[in-house]
Amino acid sequence: MTSATVSLVGSTGSIGTQAVEVVEASAGRFEVVALAAQSSIDHLAEQARALRPALVGIGDPTLAPKLAELVPAGTEVVAGPEGLVAAARAAEVVVNGVVGFAGLPVTLAALEAGARLALANKESLIAGAPVVQRARTTPGAEIVPVDSEHCAVHQCLASVGSDDVARLLITASGGPFRGRDRSSLSAVTVDEALAHPTWKMGPKITIDSSTLMNKGLEVIEAHELFGVDYDRIDVVVHPQSIVHSMVELVDGATLAQLSVPDMRLPIGYAMGYPRRLDVAFGPVDWGRPLQLTFEAPDREVFACLDLAYQAGRTGGGAPAWLNAANEVAVAAFLSGRIPWPAIAEVVAETLEAFDGAPIDSFDAVLDADREARERAAVAVAGRGR
Ligand code: MG
Repeated sequence: MTSATVSLVGSTGSIGTQAVEVVEASAGRFEVVALAAQSSIDHLAEQARALRPALVGIGDPTLAPKLAELVPAGTEVVAGPEGLVAAARAAEVVVNGVVGFAGLPVTLAALEAGARLALANKESLIAGAPVVQRARTTPGAEIVPVDSEHCAVHQCLASVGSDDVARLLITASGGPFRGRDRSSLSAVTVDEALAHPTWKMGPKITIDSSTLMNKGLEVIEAHELFGVDYDRIDVVVHPQSIVHSMVELVDGATLAQLSVPDMRLPIGYAMGYPRRLDVAFGPVDWGRPLQLTFEAPDREVFACLDLAYQAGRTGGGAPAWLNAANEVAVAAFLSGRIPWPAIAEVVAETLEAFDGAPIDSFDAVLDADREARERAAVAVAGRGR
């Protein structure tokens, strides 16, 4: 059996370290030829010593000399943003586990190189949709989603024709504040918001789960990945996080993918597609009682959800504005500058200022991102405590 060459970009983060576990668990299936991270050089060097890639990228260029001393002799070290991009051009399969908007150049580089992109960085697809969709038409280029919901939809869609799809049902755990009313949420702490009930993830996405912005971004992500319009994408709260999403068909049947929450399953699916891994992550124990419940989201308390639908329907640069405003607002909440309910307010105020500029180039995405961040910073300052 031949092994696929793999590049792990964002290798020291939550997705990256789990991708390393997938590689190690499926002996011989994947050959890691490149690793890249933003700044965690000790962890990155440790991975390089274990996996022996030809190339290691480091986003913070000031750390490159130190990293070069730590990696095995002969390893090529590429510094700065170019380091992440070089890693994204180096393999047949590229795992993009970079956090936030910084993942866009990685997504574009992988697709333009005709690689399979195992995409965990949803922000790049959301903010840069028009340019990402263009890059996606490169011969050989393909996106297989790592995001658990989209990975589930991808699996469900494998057996049905697009005319048979009535709607996509994206499941949401509901986060730590499910069932809370608006007034009780103004004083929640960062630690409370970081206490996700079912998934262990990085801080940015965990806060996004607490506001349901993560789900809103995933609705846009689903629209871009699968070409289904917003009227046919719904969100269902499912606190157990066992059903990772569903596809309802025109004849009334609903297909679903079930497994115990474990990101190594979708990571391995995306890396190995179309062949399944032969190692199991998160199989359900059907011998024990299992209760699955579903409910509609509270769209008033979790206003970020409808803000995302609104931005998605507006299209063009609006999703980029939504994403940038949210990144600014979440950073402000994590550093204690604004209360939790102000996250949605900052995003709403920023979107109101959206200038309607289209996204037709990488630079236009950067401009939209920059302008939205400036607007959002003003909105944050107006709500400071
Ligand atoms: Mg998800």
